[in-house]
Amino acid sequence: MPDAELTQQIIDAVDQGFDEQIAFTLDLTRFPSLRGHEATAQDFMARALEERGYTVDRWLIDVEAIKDLPGFSPVMVSYDDAWNVVGSLRAEKPKGRSLILNGHIDVVPTGPIEMWTTPPFMPEVHDGWLYGRGGGDMKAGLAATVFAVDALARLGARPAADVFLQSVIEEECTGNGALACLQRGYRAETAIIPEPTQNRLTAAQVGVMWFQVKVQGRPAHVAYAGTGANAIESCFPLIRALHEMEARWNAEQHPAFEGVDHPLNFVVSKIEGGDWTSSVPSWCTFNMRIGIYPGADLAAVRREVESVIAEASLSDPFLSNHPPQVVYHGFQAEGYVLEGGEEAQSLLETCHAAAFGSAMERRATTATTDARFFGLYADTPALVYGPYAEDIHGFDERVSVDSIRRVTQVIALFIADWCGLEKAA
Ligand code: ZN
Repeated sequence: MPDAELTQQIIDAVDQGFDEQIAFTLDLTRFPSLRGHEATAQDFMARALEERGYTVDRWLIDVEAIKDLPGFSPVMVSYDDAWNVVGSLRAEKPKGRSLILNGHIDVVPTGPIEMWTTPPFMPEVHDGWLYGRGGGDMKAGLAATVFAVDALARLGARPAADVFLQSVIEEECTGNGALACLQRGYRAETAIIPEPTQNRLTAAQVGVMWFQVKVQGRPAHVAYAGTGANAIESCFPLIRALHEMEARWNAEQHPAFEGVDHPLNFVVSKIEGGDWTSSVPSWCTFNMRIGIYPGADLAAVRREVESVIAEASLSDPFLSNHPPQVVYHGFQAEGYVLEGGEEAQSLLETCHAAAFGSAMERRATTATTDARFFGLYADTPALVYGPYAEDIHGFDERVSVDSIRRVTQVIALFIADWCGLEKAA
């Protein structure tokens, strides 16, 4: 940990750059970097890193190169514009410990725009909050990594160990962006991911699986509905059976989620089916996202999902002969419990106390993050720790400006100790 004088200098240096940091965060949040539309936001990040003297690696994710790696999730969309960006700051005379700073640039859809108080991609700051889709999850965190290093530069210093600043895509659907960074060879002794964790360190995260259930029916004129089989209404018992499985799984405890209310959440998140109001629908597809405990075997989970659906179909005369199909179209993500990296964890605690004046809390999250790639597949402890945000994935997503400032101070202090400092060139 830097001495008291340097600590104060670093904290002040973050404050000096903070207006610029918020302007940068607003610029970044203005990009509607929804899935498949991240390229211009990635251009912006690449430019920002280049200007600061990082060596920038920008590449198109190659599915062929990652599809056999552990942690890969199936891809049902085009990767024709799927750009990852990594900025490397390589130390002149490395003497400290290397570090990955990782954030995702992709954001989730907005839902009906008219439900937002202000348009989601016209971000603004008021009353101490930065509003906008993706501001909290997690462009504020991504920008914080850039400005933490900037604060050190303001003091004429730079990290005395290699720092890799990763702006990845696909975090909200597969994690294949972070996986592609591993495949590309980026490694460090620890990683920080400033997801919106409410200023807490993430001790555990669930696994997440996505699947689609494709249900058939027999079309008929609604005047003779009894002769048809309704694909939409047939989904109801299947969904009920899946929620019963959810209740069974939540009844089992996991030590990392002790005290967490309902850690495993299943939701039918999208549904489409049918063609005509006066026709019994002949097809329906629903998407479901499920949570699983760390340590759960993904193949076993898939078998259980399929057997629950198959069993629920047996009581339906049509479905018993036309079994629904299950398609895995995104996340096949294992859970992750933060283990190892005690030194990095206690350093983060110390830095947090210096910036916040209070003890750092820990949390177990009922969502996933890219931390699993570092922790499970690269033996690198990943510290998921970031600002305070509300309504991520909802309307009027917002992130606390003061929390951004302090988290940036924490990251800058962490870098100064973990990597050490050398004189800037
Ligand atoms: Zn996120």
